[in-house]
Amino acid sequence: MERTGGVEDCPHCGGTGWVRVADGGAGAARPCVCEEQRRLPRLIEASGVPPRYRECTIAGFQTAGEERARARLLEARAVCQRYVDEFLGLDGRFRETGLVFVGPPGTGKTHLAAAVLLELIRRHGIAGRFVDFTSLVHRIQSTFDPSSPESKHDVLDPVIDAPLLVFDELGAQKATPFVNDVLYLILNTRYTRRLPTLFTTNFRLERPAAAGAPGEHDLLASRVPPILVSRLFEMAVPVALDTGDFRREVRMHGIRV
Ligand SMILES: [Zn+2]
Repeated sequence: MERTGGVEDCPHCGGTGWVRVADGGAGAARPCVCEEQRRLPRLIEASGVPPRYRECTIAGFQTAGEERARARLLEARAVCQRYVDEFLGLDGRFRETGLVFVGPPGTGKTHLAAAVLLELIRRHGIAGRFVDFTSLVHRIQSTFDPSSPESKHDVLDPVIDAPLLVFDELGAQKATPFVNDVLYLILNTRYTRRLPTLFTTNFRLERPAAAGAPGEHDLLASRVPPILVSRLFEMAVPVALDTGDFRREVRMHGIRV
């Protein structure tokens, strides 16, 4: 078989980058571990995970703090670990549902989402992508300039098609018809194609129990069309990173990971 760039003198493939596996017939070839190791830095580079999050790991997620907060963070970390461990199902297919990390700024939502993405890139060689909503919107808008070297599709297609996507800061952009169109295209296409997405958001998923209670104005539904909020619940399991109301909301949905 043609050499594709495996590591020379690799004990598994002899440097071809491929190994044969029995399939009950003539046998099939799959990329050797050495080839996967070689691809890894490229995949991580191409993922778009910002440099400050490149070293994030699930195990390295800080869970210090007062006891209740700590228990909650430990639980969020455990959910992430389970998600990674069960990403490849017994049927040999990747998971179709994602996670939505909910909580105020500074609670580690992006750390956990990036860590899950990086872990799955390492484990399965999956071509995951990281995108921050605000930068994405600005990048798409810059393509409207006739002198722009890239088109709207150049920017959007890799996000829509990614086998695993981190969509950071859902709701960060004020809802305008343009922003809603972008959101609709991404969420709806990924939902239809059953591609898993890991969202983070500073906004609440549900209305506080009492009308006029604090938090009434921080609803995700005030930033994202309600139809897309419902879609979000079909696509992703909430992971709460704050006490009190955020916690209760997740319970109310009764979804278990
Ligand atoms: Zn090899």
